[in-house]
Amino acid sequence: MNQSALYRCAVVGNPIAHSRSPEIHAQFAQDTGISLQYDRILAHDDADFLATIKRFFADGGRGLNVTVPFKVTAFAACEVLSPYAKAAGAVNTLWLADGKLHGDNTDGRGLVKALCSHHIELQGKKVLLLGAGGAARGAVLPLLEAGAKVSIYNRTHSKALDLAKEYAHFPTPPKALLHDQLAQAFDLIINATSAGLGNEAFDLPVIFNETTAAYEMVYGKETPFLQAAKRFGAPSFDGYSMLMEQARLSFTIWFGEENALES
Ligand code: NDP
Repeated sequence: MNQSALYRCAVVGNPIAHSRSPEIHAQFAQDTGISLQYDRILAHDDADFLATIKRFFADGGRGLNVTVPFKVTAFAACEVLSPYAKAAGAVNTLWLADGKLHGDNTDGRGLVKALCSHHIELQGKKVLLLGAGGAARGAVLPLLEAGAKVSIYNRTHSKALDLAKEYAHFPTPPKALLHDQLAQAFDLIINATSAGLGNEAFDLPVIFNETTAAYEMVYGKETPFLQAAKRFGAPSFDGYSMLMEQARLSFTIWFGEENALES
């Protein structure tokens, strides 16, 4: 790293004004002594997004984060993909190396690191993952690698089945559960649905108890999922720790292991 250089990074999405990434990366830059300009970029549609990333790297940009709704478009644009990006079918971190656009997905590993920071054990534990969208897809491989026994429940069951099937070759493959199979004890329930964003009711049987940890990927909001967990006295956490940890992994990708940040 050239300590006197000013590096440019940014997050691209739509909407983007609410993104906390600039403040998180500014803190990382301060902690590592790197001069960093980290912007928010609004892209209007897929074509605008693709033009934006092309221009950004042509102008010497160091790295991009990608957020809703462009993670799948970013995945399709990459020439080199990490195993986690391939597993998720989505990319949240972009960089250029050897003239090629590289993509990774740090969300799932960020989740596992966040759980670890809350002292939530995964090895051999029964984990229920709610959702089968991009965030859930990104979480399955890191959870399995951490030794969790993963069950998946999604409103649209076929998507949970498809997701579980992708890991059928694992020693302990995930199971796709139906609604009436949910009334069992889990060590951890992760809400990877976007239901909490709109405050829809949390429509599940009573599956929390005081030893079930609850992790809500949405952050900064007391969602119905978190409210339900708290009613049962379950230890509960929102997605801010995941946001921090996925960002920390992106930062390390862009600036190297020597600038890896301690959690
Ligand atoms: P997607 O749009 O890809 O998937 C949405 C998922 O939520 C689907 O499984 C969908 O089910 C389900 N869902 C939506 N509405 C409801 C509802 N009313 N009831 C039950 N299920 C519902 O979104 P993502 O996977 O990208 O994101 C999911 C959440 O994770 C978002 O809230 C996002 O903000 C959060 N997130 C947080 C991160 C962090 O760092 N903290 C990182 C990434 C995501 P169906 O298939 O039936 O439509």
